Amino acid sequence: MKRQYAVIGLGRFGGSICRALSEQGMEVLGIDMDEDRVNEYSSIATHTVIADSTDEGVLKNLGIRNFEHVIVAIGENLQSSILTTLILKDMGVSKITVKAQNDYHERVLLKIGADRIIHPERDMGIRIAHQVVSKNVLDYLELSDEYSIVEMAAGEKMSGKSLQEMNIRAKYGCNVVAVKRSHEVIVSPHADQKVEEGDVLIVIGGEKDISRLEKDLMA
Ligand code: ATP
Repeated sequence: MKRQYAVIGLGRFGGSICRALSEQGMEVLGIDMDEDRVNEYSSIATHTVIADSTDEGVLKNLGIRNFEHVIVAIGENLQSSILTTLILKDMGVSKITVKAQNDYHERVLLKIGADRIIHPERDMGIRIAHQVVSKNVLDYLELSDEYSIVEMAAGEKMSGKSLQEMNIRAKYGCNVVAVKRSHEVIVSPHADQKVEEGDVLIVIGGEKDISRLEKDLMA
């Protein structure tokens, strides 16, 4: 039977993934070469091991290829991050997610076959910037290079108007995929759906289009 998750590198990022997965009842193996880090997570993760992930033999002995998903959360040491990813790929790990330091690091990781690259600091910076620019933006998530999804609180300007009246799709090229109103969620709302102040709109669209919408309608 496949085991669940392994997290390599228990710094702030890897550690928080390890903690969150454990809290969700997942089986997690935490690996770090630093004994103190490993001790910190020994009572949180299912198993913890002090090991250098660039040592192929060590990863083999840990049976790393049997894990469903391995997360490489080594930050600063690019060489270790790349070598670890390469070894995991060679061993046939089915899903590998890697934290990247910069765009060059990302390109190398993609070339050697990482399945998903994450830039936690950059992504969080973008999310916070959107929240800071408009007090109505509650959350922001980048879906791809082109599309994002944003959660925005409807203000006075939107109150009492239908989606059609605001012309969101035609004017901004964005789609409202749901409207949250207290505990109710209206999924795929019709064009005649009226919006009330305090509703939360889940909007999908291009980065620039969403920004225009935020500026015009959310002020
Ligand atoms: P964060 O921002 O998540 O705290 P960071 O970007 O500062 O992390 P590092 O501190 O460089 O990243 O690395 C995260 C963790 O990975 C550290 O605890 C470090 O000991 C561990 N680590 C680094 N290289 C290896 C390796 N080859 N094998 C196992 N663990 C490693």
